[in-house]
Amino acid sequence: MSQPRTALCHSLAFTGHDTGGHPENPSRIRAIDRELHDRELLTGRPEIAWESATDEMVTRVHDPGYLASLRQITRAGGGMLDPDTIVRPDSLEVALSAAGAAVAAVDAVLDGRVIRAFVLSRPPGHHALPGRGMGFCLLNNVAIAAAHARARGVERVAIVDWDVHHGNGTEATFLDDPAVFYASTHQAPFYPFTGFASERGRAAGMGATLNIPLEAGSGDAALLRAMTGQIAPALEEFGPELIFVSAGYDAHRNDPLAMLEATDEGFRILTQAVIDLADDLCDGRLIFVLEGGYDPPALARCVADAIELLDMAE
Ligand SMILES: [Zn+2]
Repeated sequence: MSQPRTALCHSLAFTGHDTGGHPENPSRIRAIDRELHDRELLTGRPEIAWESATDEMVTRVHDPGYLASLRQITRAGGGMLDPDTIVRPDSLEVALSAAGAAVAAVDAVLDGRVIRAFVLSRPPGHHALPGRGMGFCLLNNVAIAAAHARARGVERVAIVDWDVHHGNGTEATFLDDPAVFYASTHQAPFYPFTGFASERGRAAGMGATLNIPLEAGSGDAALLRAMTGQIAPALEEFGPELIFVSAGYDAHRNDPLAMLEATDEGFRILTQAVIDLADDLCDGRLIFVLEGGYDPPALARCVADAIELLDMAE
């Protein structure tokens, strides 16, 4: 096997933001770390160093007033953004590092240092709206990364979101932007109760949003049909220069929060499908950004499987 070329943004610093018994907690990162260590996937890779996202990077997506309010809550010792979304004293620091890692992955790909990267960070991001965090998410990592790619001159960016929840924050960020195509498969009706098939974008962005709601229990077959029958043709028409995956693994059948019933094998097929799409459309350029996934063993296996497939790509 040739030298793996997939870069990982992996750090036990993402075991900060200790939310205790909440489903989105540091054990997710620890489980991934153990699995990658056991499969010897942590060594012999290109390195991506990263720093915390700057205010300039964050405010391409988020309102400055929201960032200021996060700073204030953090300084006050923490709190709750909503009944699901905990802020600890170090949470903003961890969230800024997660966003910064996604930005650094973009720089590494655009500078030609790597072709593919997986950002193994938490807290997740895709529910974070421009003006408000929600649903376990403080800063929208994938949106900040996509906005960074646009700021660096990438003309068309696609985001494929297979987290079991609709990425309402990412959709809202780019709803009227024709340069960022957002495609989501998600269980419906389900939290956050957005992502109807009729939501297709707004104004100049009309047509650059694709929502594929799926019933509970739909399983691998429905996810794969969505990918090959709807997402792939839409991206072929759109012509992205870079593809992101909002890679949540809470559609897995072992997940305690959702009921979509996907399997390890289903996620491997989805992963190969986006690798093939990126190869066909944008010279392989593909960045996975971790979102949800609340059964740590299933999450860790699926992430490790994805990295092995990314490594095998030409
Ligand atoms: Zn989710």
